[in-house]
Amino acid sequence: MANIIVNRELCTGCKTCFKACFIDVIKWDAEAKRPIVAYPDECVACNFCEISCKDRAIKVVPEYSRYLFPRENLV
Ligand code: SF4
Ligand code: SF4
Repeated sequence: MANIIVNRELCTGCKTCFKACFIDVIKWDAEAKRPIVAYPDECVACNFCEISCKDRAIKVVPEYSRYLFPRENLV
């Protein structure tokens, strides 16, 4: 689970993030030529879409509180 933020002004519609997401969290709006975050609950926060975007128009904000093992319990 993550919040995926798309800056539609910075986005150039290159489709890279859409192709990068291997679990189909991101769908494509063909008319607007912009990504749609269709299934944010299924996002595994791999960050691949964000690092693939040359225009820095998409940002992944993981919801760490939803993880089974909160970070503070791992040490
Ligand atoms: S990779 Fe970036 S510029 Fe390309 S469609 Fe996705 S958000 Fe837009
Ligand atoms: S962070 Fe990974 S799983 Fe989530 S939308 Fe981006 S590419 Fe898909």
